[in-house]
Amino acid sequence: MPIFEYRCSKCNKKFELLVGVGKESDELKCPGCGSKDLSKLFSTFGFKGENGGGTSGCGTCTASSCDGCG
Ligand SMILES: [Zn+2]
Repeated sequence: MPIFEYRCSKCNKKFELLVGVGKESDELKCPGCGSKDLSKLFSTFGFKGENGGGTSGCGTCTASSCDGCG
């Protein structure tokens, strides 16, 4: 299960979250202030892309388009 690191744009708090399969970032919020205005930071955990391009589908497939893994 991939771990992603986020930084809150509001209070600048940095935290890590486990992101389960099928969960979207809109469920995420800052544990400090509850803001959903988060910046996603790249985790080194399972990250294989040369550049993320912003919206890789998941952390478990190597394809950039993520077509086959739902
Ligand atoms: Zn915050």
